[in-house]
Amino acid sequence: MLNINKMNLTMKVLFGMLLGVIVGLGLNIYQLNTEGSWANTYIVDGLFYVIGKMFINALKMLVVPLVFFSLICGVCGIADTKMLGRVGSKSFFLYMLTTAIAIAVSISIAASVGIGEGMALETDTVFMGKEAPPLADVFINIIPSNPIKAMAEGEMLSLIFFSILAGISLLMVGEKARSLVSLAETANAVMMKMVTLVMAFAPYAVFALIAKSMADVGLELLNQLMGYVFVLVGALLLHLFGTLMIVLKVFSGLSPRLFLKKIRTAQLFAFSTASSNATIPVTLRTVTERMGVNNSVASFTIPFGATINMDGTAIMQGVATVFIANIYGIDLTTLDYLTVILLSVLASIGTAGVPGVGLIMLSMVFVQVGIPVEGIGLILGVDRLMDMVRTAVNVSGDAVVSTIVAKSEGKLDVECYCDPDAGLVPTQA
Ligand code: ASP
Repeated sequence: MLNINKMNLTMKVLFGMLLGVIVGLGLNIYQLNTEGSWANTYIVDGLFYVIGKMFINALKMLVVPLVFFSLICGVCGIADTKMLGRVGSKSFFLYMLTTAIAIAVSISIAASVGIGEGMALETDTVFMGKEAPPLADVFINIIPSNPIKAMAEGEMLSLIFFSILAGISLLMVGEKARSLVSLAETANAVMMKMVTLVMAFAPYAVFALIAKSMADVGLELLNQLMGYVFVLVGALLLHLFGTLMIVLKVFSGLSPRLFLKKIRTAQLFAFSTASSNATIPVTLRTVTERMGVNNSVASFTIPFGATINMDGTAIMQGVATVFIANIYGIDLTTLDYLTVILLSVLASIGTAGVPGVGLIMLSMVFVQVGIPVEGIGLILGVDRLMDMVRTAVNVSGDAVVSTIVAKSEGKLDVECYCDPDAGLVPTQA
């Protein structure tokens, strides 16, 4: 007999998700969610929307203070600026490497399958993406002219920079700053507790988020775009279970099986929210408490990864480029493919991990290689669903790199990593 009270949080979230899929698809199939209908107004766009948004807000609310305090504690915990440099360069290298592999593999798969060839799809959906920031601005804005503004706007790279500088300065001031450091430690512990409290509501919120997405998804369109969806999801799964696990094993020697077991909760949050940024609190908790990554490494690598590392998004760009180019009958040269790879990797640095940002990056790529940007309208209808899957892959990539870097710096509690039950979220918070 199914006893919900005895389930752990991940199982409860999965249960909520499954129920969400059933209810959402039910509403969709029986066309109960048509515009203006009672169910659509009060349930889908009412109750589900409100609960889902409240939950995402609750997660986002934690991001800035959590990153700020945990990074200060992290830097003060290392007390070695050389190590800080090493953690920074290793994680940057691994983030870029995994993203480049991701897109190269996805282009190869999509091109060899020849998706979209001979298809005649038309769209009247207009895609209007915002411009991705120029790379020069990305670098300039790493240094915030006003740290409070950067915090208020959740500018992750600026926040990371300011917090690290604050941490280093606290270290340099030494004894006199001791009370501030212990204040940051206490604040960090409080923030972590808040994460656990918010997570306890996840099963209900995930139900609402998934039910709404499923009710809104265009099933007919999904059917039409089956080839695209199939190749994309296949490439994403290959990256998650293949490439990332090989990278984890080769660079750290750690068990991929345990990793996949422990990352599940963060993946479910990423999937439901479609935002790496909103998932930061959960990813941070997962790698520190479930996998044993020391906060000195995790507090930097996780928010850094949420911003600059987007393997899943890069995969979507590879598959979408080939798909739409084929539909328009555009022959891409090897140079075009190389441009796509380079641009996707660079674009991932400058764009934040929030829902839908992948399409903005895609429009940048299209302009460069000469594919009509309107083509993005063709995949717009299924993008929310694909965004959910690719965000789960993005977050997994962040956790893989964080674990590898921690292991290489002797900052991984291997005993904790090997204990399957370490750091499980108490279901009664
Ligand atoms: N939603 C993704 C993330 O937050 C970005 C994207 O692919 O649109 O990581």
